[in-house]
Amino acid sequence: MPSLIDLHSHSTISDGLLTPGDLVAHAAAKGVRALALTDHDDTAGLAEAEVAAFKHGIQLIHGVEISVTWRNRTLHIVGLNIDSDYAPLANGLAAIRAGRHRRAEGMAASLDKFGIVGSLEGAYKFAKQGIISRTHFARFLIEKGCANDMRGVFKKYLVKGKPGYFEHRWADLEDAVNWIASSGGVAAIAHPGRYDLGRTNMLLLLEEFRNLGGAAIEVVTGSHTPAQYQEFAKLSKQFGLQASQGSDYHGPGLSYMEMGRLPGLPSGCVPVWQHWPEIVEMQFSSELH
Ligand code: AMP
Ligand code: MN
Ligand code: MN
Ligand code: MN
Repeated sequence: MPSLIDLHSHSTISDGLLTPGDLVAHAAAKGVRALALTDHDDTAGLAEAEVAAFKHGIQLIHGVEISVTWRNRTLHIVGLNIDSDYAPLANGLAAIRAGRHRRAEGMAASLDKFGIVGSLEGAYKFAKQGIISRTHFARFLIEKGCANDMRGVFKKYLVKGKPGYFEHRWADLEDAVNWIASSGGVAAIAHPGRYDLGRTNMLLLLEEFRNLGGAAIEVVTGSHTPAQYQEFAKLSKQFGLQASQGSDYHGPGLSYMEMGRLPGLPSGCVPVWQHWPEIVEMQFSSELH
């Protein structure tokens, strides 16, 4: 039986394809009972998602996925049960969004030099509601016929060493964890299996993250293999970190996994929601009926 809980998803406020309201409706239709909206560096979708969650009878967890630079690598830190009005968090996210705009200008300038013009306007055309991201440049480049699909366009243009890549420094890990934790939320390392850190750096990251006040890691996510579920379940126990799970859904055709298909956590994991009354209650009532 798939799990009813999905703690990682994206709407049109970041690089997802569904509006916050449609995303929540989709989750409900797929049987999800508790959904976290975790747009990249922006919480502007939460209000609309909350209205839809009430309408569809599902529990909305207020979340965000913060872009971080750690030892010259980009990491993503998910904040769950955050207070999006908390000023240090809101101001920190606003600064990251301003950085995204500068990075987009840099990406466009380098694509210009490569002979692909108009990408800044082209990418913003796909990013009307919130942040600008590489995904929006990807959609523009596909529309122009520069590549056939998302995977191809990232490989050819949008990763390190390619014409549309522009080096950028995101938030510090310490700041991201502090903004989340002091707003009352829980910080979780998103999709740890995707960073290609090597064993030594992964252990360093987990220790540093926990010492900074980080509380959880994603054990089950759309981009982990079943072997990685086990690997990160073990690491979560080893480091005394709680376990989270989420599809990282971005919309039809743009996702690792459809909603409502997440397997539960491996046994022995301490779920990140262990003391969240709304989820504990929900699980209890669904066991009864
Ligand atoms: P950004 O935060 O602007 O650098 O954009 C990162 C987003 O691009 C990620 O959250 C993914 O949604 C998407 N992405 C990154 N790498 C790939 C890839 N290889 N193929 C498809 N989408 C990707
Ligand atoms: Mn994304
Ligand atoms: Mn991510
Ligand atoms: Mn994500």
